[in-house]
Amino acid sequence: MARAVPVGPVPDPAPDPVRDPWRDAMRLALAEADAAVPAGDVPVGAVLLGPGGAVLARGHNEREATGDPTAHAEVLALRRAAAATGEWRLTGCTLVVTLEPCVMCAGALVQSRVERVVFGAPDEKAGAAGSLWDLVRDRRLNHRPEVIQGVLGEECAAQLTAFFRAR
Ligand SMILES: [Zn+2]
Repeated sequence: MARAVPVGPVPDPAPDPVRDPWRDAMRLALAEADAAVPAGDVPVGAVLLGPGGAVLARGHNEREATGDPTAHAEVLALRRAAAATGEWRLTGCTLVVTLEPCVMCAGALVQSRVERVVFGAPDEKAGAAGSLWDLVRDRRLNHRPEVIQGVLGEECAAQLTAFFRAR
């Protein structure tokens, strides 16, 4: 059977049997990110999926809204999911976020024992899931979530670009 061979770099090819399942969740994360903008926060959104794929929690950047330097989308989603389940270990869960996690969030993801991190756009300046560091998959740590990147990557990057262009 003939297989289509991509020509040149294809950041977000369709359909991909591995990445496709995460697209719906990433669309929810993109919508969540929009909620950050009215307060002047950078539009980053996250959804925390339970082991069966149900949405346990959502979060968007709230640094400006709350004056909390740790109020990143991922941290808020992790805290809310832990509060909802009554369990700090988020075993079997998947964190889906529009932008590659920073070092703080990567650390929180390792601490929470999530099974998987799915992100859209890479963060070449501060990313800690493969771009600048790869904290989540550091072999010296006792827990290493799987990383899936580039899901709706162009949409995620475009949302951020539009925000910064408007400022
Ligand atoms: Zn962060």
